[in-house]
Amino acid sequence: MKTKLFFKIGILMQVVLLIAHLINNRNGLPIPVVDEDSRVLTYLMKTYDIHFPGGWRTLDETLWGYAITWALFIVFVFLASLQALVVRPQNRILGKRIALFNVLLWAGSLIATLIFWSLPQQALFALLLVPFLLSYLLEWNAPKPNNTRVCVVGAGVSGLTAAYQLQKQGYTQVTVLEKANYAGGKCLTVEHYGHPFDLGGHEMLAGYRDVMDMAAELGAPARVSIPPMVYDHDTRQYLNFKQAAVVSGKYSMTQVMLASMKYLYLVAVPFRRFSKPSTGYGHMPKELAMPLGQWLVKRRLEALSDILAFVIKVQGYGHFNDTSAAYLVKFMGVRNWFSLILSGVGISKQWPKVFTLGMMNFCQRMAAGLKVQLNTEIEKIERSAGNGQAPVRVYIKGQSEPLLFDKLILSTPLEAKGLGFLDMSPEEETLFKQIRHFEFVNTVCHTQGLPAGVVASIPLNDIRRGEYTGYIRDFPDVPVSVFFSLESSGVTDKTLREKIEEVLKEVPEYDGEKPKVLEFLNQKNWEYFPHVLPEAAADGFYDKLEALQGQRHTYYASSALAFECVGNSVAYARRLALRHF
Ligand SMILES: Cc1cc2nc3c(=O)[nH]c(=O)nc-3n(C[C@H](O)[C@H](O)[C@H](O)COP(=O)(O)OP(=O)(O)OC[C@H]3O[C@@H](n4cnc5c(N)ncnc54)[C@H](O)[C@@H]3O)c2cc1C
Repeated sequence: MKTKLFFKIGILMQVVLLIAHLINNRNGLPIPVVDEDSRVLTYLMKTYDIHFPGGWRTLDETLWGYAITWALFIVFVFLASLQALVVRPQNRILGKRIALFNVLLWAGSLIATLIFWSLPQQALFALLLVPFLLSYLLEWNAPKPNNTRVCVVGAGVSGLTAAYQLQKQGYTQVTVLEKANYAGGKCLTVEHYGHPFDLGGHEMLAGYRDVMDMAAELGAPARVSIPPMVYDHDTRQYLNFKQAAVVSGKYSMTQVMLASMKYLYLVAVPFRRFSKPSTGYGHMPKELAMPLGQWLVKRRLEALSDILAFVIKVQGYGHFNDTSAAYLVKFMGVRNWFSLILSGVGISKQWPKVFTLGMMNFCQRMAAGLKVQLNTEIEKIERSAGNGQAPVRVYIKGQSEPLLFDKLILSTPLEAKGLGFLDMSPEEETLFKQIRHFEFVNTVCHTQGLPAGVVASIPLNDIRRGEYTGYIRDFPDVPVSVFFSLESSGVTDKTLREKIEEVLKEVPEYDGEKPKVLEFLNQKNWEYFPHVLPEAAADGFYDKLEALQGQRHTYYASSALAFECVGNSVAYARRLALRHF
C-alpha cells in the first residue's frame, strides 16, 4: 500500500513539475546557452533578456540535453504510472524490475540535469528522488519470514496457488498434502504422439490475469488457441462463432449485439464487484440467484440464448433452468465477455490461450518450488478452537505421529462425502452437504475426418445418454481429439465411447475423410462444476460459506467458492492468501 502511495505522490510531483516548467519556460529555452555562431539562440537571449550562468555550452549540446532529459522523464513518468496504477502489489518480480528501471532512469535524468540544466531545476529534480527511492526500497525488500505452519490439503491449482502466494508473502513453513500421485488435480495433461493433451483445465480467457502473471513469473509458455467452431447437428454444418450466435434463427445479429452490450454494461457497472474472478460468490446480488433462463427474461437478454448454450451448456455448466445466473456472471466478467465478443466478430484473435506444454505443466512449475507431499492419505484432521501449540493436527496413514500446524487451507472439493477425514462442525456439514457436481468425462481418441479447433456440438439432443458436448483437436497436424461428455446415472464409459462413434457416423466428411474413431487412447471421469441449486444460492449459501473463512484456523480455497475454471480458482486462492494471511 505504501509503495502505491509513494508512487502516486511521485507522479503528482512530476505533473506539477511539468506544468511549472512549461509555464516558467513559455518564453524561450529553459537553459543557459551562449553560442555566438547560433543566431536563433542569440536572438532569443537578446529578445527575452536571458542571462544564465555556465555559458560554455554549444546550442547543439543544449538541445540534446533538453531532449534527452525530457525523453527520460516521459518514459519515467509512464513507467511510474504503470507501476502505481497497473501492476498489482502481489506481482513482486515485475514490480521490482520496473522499480529498478525507474531508479536507473531517474539517475540518468539527474545526471543529464546536472550537466545541462541550472541549479533550481537540479534541486527540483533531486526532490523527486525521495518518493521514488522510498518506493523502490519498499518494493525491493523481501517479505519478512513468517514461521506460521500452514497445511494446504489438495494440490489442485487452487491449493498450489494459495501455497505459492503464501511463500511469496514470506511464509516459510507451508506444506501441501495431495492424495494423488501428481500435482494439478483437474489440470491433468497426458502425452500422445509427442504432444500434450489436457484432460481437464485447458483454455484461458482474457480475464485470467492472475494466471498470466504467475505464468510469466514461472516461465510457463502460452499460445493463442485455435478459434472455436460449432457443429450443428440439425443442418450438419460447421459454423463459426458468429453464425452460431444466431443459429436458432429466433434473433437477428443486431439483437444479439445489443444484448451483448447490455450484458457488458451489467457486469461492468451494477455487478462489477461480483463479476470479478477473485471475489468469490459472497455478497451475491439477490437477482443472480435465480435460474439463468429466468434471469435472461427478466433482463431482456434472451437474444444471448444461442451464445450461452455454448458458454454454459456445452461446457458442462448445467442447463438454463437449474444453473443460477450468478455462475454465468462469475464466469463471464467484463474481460472474458469483451474478449469473447471481439474474437466472435473477428476483431481480435488474442484469446483464448492455452499453455504450450499443457495446463498441468503450469501447476507443476508452481509445485516445483513448494513442499508438496504426493500419495498422501489423510486419515484424520483435528482442529481446536483455541490457539494452542498446534491447533491443527493432521494424521497421515502409515505415520504414528500427527503433523502439527497452525492453520489449514482446505483445497479439496468441498462436498461432504469426500471429507470423511475432517472433524466437521455442524455448520460445515450443513453447507457442504448442499454442494453438488456433474460428471464430466473426457475421452481421447485417435480420429480422422474432423476439423481442428474447439468444436462445440449443438443442439445437445441426446445428453441423457451421454452424447458428447464437443471436442478439442488442438493440433492440425496430429489427428487426436479430446471429446467431452456429460454423464448421467447409468451411463457407462463404454456407452460414452459407443455414443461418440455413433454420433460421428452422422457427421459429414471433412477434408475428403469420413469422421471416425481409429483408436481410443484415454478416458478420464471428473466430478465437475461444484455448485448449489438456485434455492440454496437465494438462501445465502455462499455468504454462510464465506463466513466460515478463518474459523477454527481453517480457510477454504477451491473452485467451489470461485467458479469451476482455472482463472477464477487461481484469482480466489491468491486473494485469500493476501487477505487472510
Ligand atoms: C474436463 C474439464 C475441462 C475443463 N476445462 C477448463 C478450461 O478449458 N478452462 C478453465 O479455466 N478451466 C477448465 N476446467 C476447470 C478447472 O480445471 C478447474 O476449475 C480447476 O482445475 C479446479 O481446481 P481446484 O484446485 O479448485 O480443484 P481440483 O483440481 O479438483 O483440486 C483438488 C485437489 O485435491 C486433491 N484431494 C482431494 N481429496 C483429497 C484428500 N483427501 N487428501 C489430499 N488431497 C485431496 C485432489 O486430488 C486434487 O488434486 C475444466 C475442468 C474439467 C474437469
